[in-house]
Amino acid sequence: EAVHERSRSDAAAADLEKLATTDGMTGLINRRHFEVLARAEWARFQRYGRPLSLLVLDIDKFKSINDRFGHDTGDLVLKAVAEICNTTRRTTDVVARIGGEEFAMLLPETNEAAAEIAAERLRKAIEDHPHVLPDVELTVTASIGIAGATLAMAAFEVMLKRADEALYDAKRTGRNRIVTTPRPVAGHIPIAAE
Ligand code: GH3
Ligand code: MG
Ligand code: MG
Repeated sequence: EAVHERSRSDAAAADLEKLATTDGMTGLINRRHFEVLARAEWARFQRYGRPLSLLVLDIDKFKSINDRFGHDTGDLVLKAVAEICNTTRRTTDVVARIGGEEFAMLLPETNEAAAEIAAERLRKAIEDHPHVLPDVELTVTASIGIAGATLAMAAFEVMLKRADEALYDAKRTGRNRIVTTPRPVAGHIPIAAE
């Protein structure tokens, strides 16, 4: 009986942990847990110089999907996009729902150029996915901002901010596209004696 009691409380603890770390609707990792995992990857990048990239994805004109087809359909679209993110990723990639219709993907051992390829594959998979409703064929697209970790970044939060800025650029320049954070140009650094 004591053994059974123990395994019941282990199971209850596991349930609680799942509740605290995942998003109920999509089953993806939630924002808070994503930040915990991201900081761990960030530490590996800093210590061992392993490449690390981040994608931030936001569904295009999602409000109009809700407005035209209702909130329930909006929820179905969210689940479908979450599923596409989850099946497109590599096993070591971390996917999370970090906002209402916003997702993030952390790509360990991946430089910016490889992250761009992954992002474009994901963008296309979302665009190509048939969201068939009874009467209408609904096309869903998303915009993606990409940032690669660099030593100039003080913390993970800086990389997240860069990816967000790139996402904003993708929205501004037409949506349904990927944009990479522009690298700072290695310009002329004047020296005191000059
Ligand atoms: P943009 O292309 O600029 O991203 O436009 P948008 O309409 O996607 O952006 P906006 O931020 O104006 O709207 C996001 C909408 O997402 C508004 C909000 O009601 C909806 N939303 C957020 N969370 C959920 C959810 O869990 N379910 C549903 N159905 N809608 C949600
Ligand atoms: Mg948004
Ligand atoms: Mg949006």
